[in-house]
Amino acid sequence: MTEPGRDLPKDFPHVDIFIAPNQPERLVEFLKLGGVSSKEYALSRKIGESITKYITIMHGCDNFCSYCVVPYVRGREFSRPMDEILEEIKQTDFNQYKEIFLLGQNVNSYKYGLADLLHKTEAFISHDTYPISRIRFMTSHPKDMVDDIINAVADLPHVCEYFHLPVQHGDDDMLKKMNRGYNLDYYRKLIAKIRAKIPGAAITSDVIIGYPGETDQQFANTLKIIREISFDACNTAAYSVRPGTAAAKLADDVPDQVKQQRLQQAMLVVDEVTQNNNNKLLGTVQEVLVDKKGTGRTRTNKIVKFTPNKSDLLGQLVNVKIATAKSWLLQGDLLNG
Ligand code: SF4
Repeated sequence: MTEPGRDLPKDFPHVDIFIAPNQPERLVEFLKLGGVSSKEYALSRKIGESITKYITIMHGCDNFCSYCVVPYVRGREFSRPMDEILEEIKQTDFNQYKEIFLLGQNVNSYKYGLADLLHKTEAFISHDTYPISRIRFMTSHPKDMVDDIINAVADLPHVCEYFHLPVQHGDDDMLKKMNRGYNLDYYRKLIAKIRAKIPGAAITSDVIIGYPGETDQQFANTLKIIREISFDACNTAAYSVRPGTAAAKLADDVPDQVKQQRLQQAMLVVDEVTQNNNNKLLGTVQEVLVDKKGTGRTRTNKIVKFTPNKSDLLGQLVNVKIATAKSWLLQGDLLNG
């Protein structure tokens, strides 16, 4: 099922087949029929080189945020049975994969309990001494971020202290219109709770600029929340209509030029706060999981570049002393490995 009003095969004529995320059996049929093109083979090889094993634990969404097409195109929430997920983890090629990434449109509303799954994954890795360095999960909805999950992140050594919690707007009226299910008071308290429990946890976010009816003041409130929370990264996007959504019935009345000006301003503020956060890491030693030659990520998901030594460090944990900080990149010197 494609986004209402959108003809994907027409828009992307170079793509051989379109398969909805909730119809994996169609992919199996396609492959059985020998439908693997050279392009797909190239893609699978590229994915195959990753050290991160991505495991979808749930898909779809029941939230119906006013601007979002996901519940219409991906359907209602569906959670995979926990045993099936643990079996997939068990079958992982641990020679290749060093990180497990649990994925879901709304990963923390996983029906059988994300905290429980994190505990079981941690127990499996630890008891069987599998060479997995890290566990991550994404994307979390702020309203579903319960204490059990925060505690699991705090307590489980392999689970990285990284939370992607899209705030989407800095104005309560806008959040209500967006049908987000929380207000800023709730969001602030949630972040304070995470930071009190897990000092140094990275918080990243998404914001939408120019939602229908957004005033200058409401936009200014978005800049305010970006500064106040001081996100470690924040994706900014200008609102655009998604046919079939509730917001599509509203007049898209913020002129494009205004949206673009606001977007530029928001990006500058994000740059400012992320630069400030990264400056604090200058001189510190960070544990980096190497995912490419001379590049890796901290537990807080920050990209770190370092001068590689001669040995192949892919998939290994190394220590890097941070010497240079940019808003989107840290650089430093390799201490071991
Ligand atoms: Fe669901 Fe996220 Fe879309 Fe909201 S923005 S409807 S939570 S996928």
